[in-house]
Parts: sequence; C-alpha cells; structure tokens
Amino acid sequence: MVKFYLKVSATLTNIAELTTFDTPQTPFEYKFKIECTGCRTIHDKPVTINRFESHEQAGSKGEASFVFRCKECKREHSANILKTNQSLSEDSKSAALLEIDARGIDFVEFIPDGRFEAVGPESGTKFEEIDLEENEWYDFDEKAGEEVSITDVEWTISRS
Ligand SMILES: [Zn+2]
Repeated sequence: MVKFYLKVSATLTNIAELTTFDTPQTPFEYKFKIECTGCRTIHDKPVTINRFESHEQAGSKGEASFVFRCKECKREHSANILKTNQSLSEDSKSAALLEIDARGIDFVEFIPDGRFEAVGPESGTKFEEIDLEENEWYDFDEKAGEEVSITDVEWTISRS
C-alpha cells in the first residue's frame, strides 16, 4: 500500500480555512488522473472518487472508496480516501487536504473540478461556492468591506 497526500498551495488575500466543500449531502468528487502500477498505463479518462461511497472488491477483500480494473493488465486495484482536518490559510505554505491509501494505483494529477469553501479570517464570512478550475477566484466580503481572492493555486500529490 502506498500513501499519497493531495496538497494545495495558493496566495490567499483575506481568506482562511480553504478546503473542499465535502459533506454527506454534497460529497466532493475528487477527480484524478491515475496510472496502473502493474503495467504503467495511464488511464485515458480521469476518475472520480468520493469519500462517502464504498465499492465491493473482488475476492472478498472488503470494500474501498474506489475500485478499478486496469483495461491493459486486467488487475484490480483500489484506494481509500480520507479528508484530513487541514485547511489552507494565509500563513500556511501548503495544506494536505486528502490522504489516499492506494493499492496498485499511482495518483498522477488532481483536477480541481468541484466546490471549495473558505472563510473571511476577521469577518467569519463563509464562502461556499468557490470554483478553482481556473486556479484563481475573486469575490467581495461584504461584512469586512474587502476584496477577497485566491490566486496561484497549485496542486501537488506527494508520496509518503
Ligand atoms: Zn495495468
């Protein structure tokens, strides 16, 4: 089993506690490009994983967040994901938002296709509709009377 961490770094202006909006009612669909470690094939389509789903594995190996059979080598691989309690704030260089336990899968790239949330550090204003697909986001915090922004967003997947 290999453990991966999905990390985010960004320049935050008047924004704190940036993380995925990920609840049982509206689960975040974590979208990744993956590679089979058995035959080193990069799967042609990105896959999505959400932490509230579980899928049966073949051969009574129990359930996993994600089960994948490689088209090339026909081996079955799996992964479990766990949201950490980390979030990104102005004073943190990066935050590991997700922990991934993978069997037979390399997580190559994260595609930020989903909703993110954050708060105004002084005002406590909640922002729950943040879109980071363009790696930047701008809004206005009415309560604080300030512009808020998230720019230079970078995602990395590190291996422990
Ligand atoms: Zn394979």
